[in-house]
Amino acid sequence: MYNHLKPILESELAKIYESGLHKEERVLNSRQGRIVKVGNGQFLNFCANNYLGLSGSQRMSIVAKKAIDRYGFGLSSVRFICGTQGIHKKLETSTADFVGKEDAILYSSCMSANIGFFASFMGEEDIIFSDALNHASIIDGIRMCKAERFVYKHMDMECLEGGLKQFSGKRIKCIVTDGVFSMDGDVASLKQICDLADKYGALVVVDDSHATGFMGKNGRGTHEHCGVLKRVDVIASTYGKALGGASGGFIAGPKELISLLRERSRTYLFSNSLPPVVAATSLFAIDYIKKHPKLREKLWANTLYFRKKMTEAGFTVPKSEHPIVPVIIHDAQKTQNMAKQMLKRGIYVVGFSYPVVPQNEARIRVQISSEHRKEDIDKLVNAFVELS
Ligand SMILES: *Cc1c(COP(=O)(O)O)cnc(C)c1O
Repeated sequence: MYNHLKPILESELAKIYESGLHKEERVLNSRQGRIVKVGNGQFLNFCANNYLGLSGSQRMSIVAKKAIDRYGFGLSSVRFICGTQGIHKKLETSTADFVGKEDAILYSSCMSANIGFFASFMGEEDIIFSDALNHASIIDGIRMCKAERFVYKHMDMECLEGGLKQFSGKRIKCIVTDGVFSMDGDVASLKQICDLADKYGALVVVDDSHATGFMGKNGRGTHEHCGVLKRVDVIASTYGKALGGASGGFIAGPKELISLLRERSRTYLFSNSLPPVVAATSLFAIDYIKKHPKLREKLWANTLYFRKKMTEAGFTVPKSEHPIVPVIIHDAQKTQNMAKQMLKRGIYVVGFSYPVVPQNEARIRVQISSEHRKEDIDKLVNAFVELS
């Protein structure tokens, strides 16, 4: 049988390698952090989602070790058979409270949360309005569900309103958007979305994976940042980025909706419990973030400093506030060369070009962390200036 499949796979792989889209995996010889070791080299790291510097921290290791001793390694069960410990319930309560919702439910990832979400309560008589640049997990979640879909142009509120008008007769109307979009670091217009949702009676769902823990005054997320903490109905997010970066995801929202997900959501029901060590250490991360606003302050100070320095140096940096900062170089070849040269100087950044981003908008995406020092950012800015 495989003799038949092999040439098909080989030809698919050849296409990927030829197109230059092959994703090379660099092997880290160190923990995640401000500096990572790859091969024999050391690199200043500007491409992790480790916004608050918790992921590879000693602090998290210590908590995790204690958690393993107390709760054991694994549960070998789904939640509703014998896979729920007190730590899972605590994490759900603490998460819901942190993002300002009534209740929350854990998943093994945010990808898994999104895939198991829509189909649990929506069907043929319903409709989902989805931003054109939403994360792949939202797109796949919508695919799992029989509801009609309307994809609105990225952040285009007129286009969204047109759709809401056109489908006003549907039973459940649900607007779903990333809180922050990962390629540009642009922030969804949640206030306008909530206004439209009120006007047309729609539910608002925000995937806040690139925001939970640091956006908004208390780090609750994009909805706090936009002043609509209570008006956004549902938050989906990950523990795999700012909240320690191990794994796990959640959906937080009204208690009836969360209760229904516990009954119906297939990626919750038919998938193993979050490892207790991940639950306990993520719980610690939320608590730590609440008590240490300095982490967020440092992140924002670093982000502001980098954006200011780059703008002063004459680079095109799209206006936003987020620690994801795309530096638009335009030319794809130049972008790739620049990323390579950066590596030679011990700076780890990633270049993106068409078709991942639009034609002629090739860019180097920089991600700032609270762990970075002023001199790290100076080094990065200098490298951009010298290499351009
Ligand atoms: C990273 C990300 C996810 C996936 O989160 P995992 O927990 O790693 O599955 C989902 N949605 C968005 C918007 C993301 O940025």
